[in-house]
Amino acid sequence: MRTQTPKHDSYDIVIVGGAIMGASTAWFLSDDQHFDGRVLVVERDASYENASTMHTNSCMRQQFSAELNVRISQFAAEFVKNLRTYMGGDDRVPELPIHSFGYMYLADNDAFADVLRESQKTQVAAGAATQLMTPDQIKAAYPFYNVDDIVLGSINLVDEGFWDATAVFDWWRRSARERGVEYVENEVVAMTKNAAGTRIESVTLKSGEVIACGQVLNASGPRAIETARMAGVTVPVEPRKRYSWVFSAERPLDRDLPLTIDPSGVHVRENGGGTYQCGGHSDIDPAVAYDDFHMDHTIWETHIWPILATRIPQFEAIKVQSEWAGHYAYNTFDHNAIMGPHTAVENFFFLNGFSGHGLQQSPAMGRGTAELLVHGHYRSLDLSPFNYARIEANEPIIEKAII
Ligand SMILES: Cc1cc2nc3c(=O)[nH]c(=O)nc-3n(C[C@H](O)[C@H](O)[C@H](O)COP(=O)(O)OP(=O)(O)OC[C@H]3O[C@@H](n4cnc5c(N)ncnc54)[C@H](O)[C@@H]3O)c2cc1C
Repeated sequence: MRTQTPKHDSYDIVIVGGAIMGASTAWFLSDDQHFDGRVLVVERDASYENASTMHTNSCMRQQFSAELNVRISQFAAEFVKNLRTYMGGDDRVPELPIHSFGYMYLADNDAFADVLRESQKTQVAAGAATQLMTPDQIKAAYPFYNVDDIVLGSINLVDEGFWDATAVFDWWRRSARERGVEYVENEVVAMTKNAAGTRIESVTLKSGEVIACGQVLNASGPRAIETARMAGVTVPVEPRKRYSWVFSAERPLDRDLPLTIDPSGVHVRENGGGTYQCGGHSDIDPAVAYDDFHMDHTIWETHIWPILATRIPQFEAIKVQSEWAGHYAYNTFDHNAIMGPHTAVENFFFLNGFSGHGLQQSPAMGRGTAELLVHGHYRSLDLSPFNYARIEANEPIIEKAII
């Protein structure tokens, strides 16, 4: 790793990790007229090659069971569709569509069908366009599915599907830099605290510099626990491997394939041009080493493809074009975001544990974290249910739609 030295030896806010969460927060800080402090983003690998942000499905959905998660994704849709306006009308910023093929949740038992029914009520009350579908309705709208074992489906065709997260990520970094946020390629390797142990006073970089800081944000993805340890605290996040495949079909489907959540957990979606993107993981799902991106080729043959070909018989003749392994920053406590300050180390903030839905949460969570850092409270959307304090209070958030 080549290391870059920060321009200053003191910053108001140091962000540890410059992928989607760090970049979102840095940009919203730069967009706050009440804040003119110095922001340093430290990123250990500026290629982002192994960041979760680079390994995703790049989709958003409003089909969550917890209302707050629905609202968080609704802000994502609003932000993406109005990116240029949010960026001050800058005509270099692209207009980004959301490719709203929807997520199709399929239930093969009454208990999960009841969960879909309950969740749909919550989503509709929050303004989402989620519709429940009987197997016959599914078959009429999407004749390629095998619905023999299905009792209910749930889909939302408004602001739910693929979006170009890479473009948003790029523009957050570019715009924040232009407004004075400093990004350096380096690694935070240690932190010092005050005598009482209540505040982080400095971060130490791999290249040796000691940087004084007003506040520190842990945006370190699957490495969140390593960064927390530097502050003398912990967070229940670990790297879990998730596999992706892009394949072409000999006979492509005649209409868009929703991001289909098979009851087995295997998911597959439209990828354009007769190709499809599929994801899954092995039944045994341990924490893995931070640098373990080894692809398990047997999973495709023995587990994933048979499930795909059963659900969509046209997928019996397909050819894998590319495949990769990525890491979820898996929150072992309740699979949801962990944010806000530590309960004892008051200037150490979390933005961690997004499991499989952090990309779509990045606009709302970055905005909320910036508000918290500058104003001491959430101003736009109250995200306090996600605060770190719930971990110590042992109060998990119940979210039933975890992929
Ligand atoms: C296969 C897969 C599919 C997914 N699909 C979706 C999807 O469709 N929709 C969705 O919303 N989400 C999806 N996600 C989840 C989403 O990708 C993540 O939640 C999101 O990218 C997390 O971003 P992050 O910035 O928190 O973490 P990361 O992207 O992992 O970034 C953390 C960064 O911190 C840096 N870092 C760590 N420690 C240090 C240190 N000490 N010093 C300096 N830098 C450090 C790392 O180098 C890294 O760049 C998916 C994830 C995977 C793996």
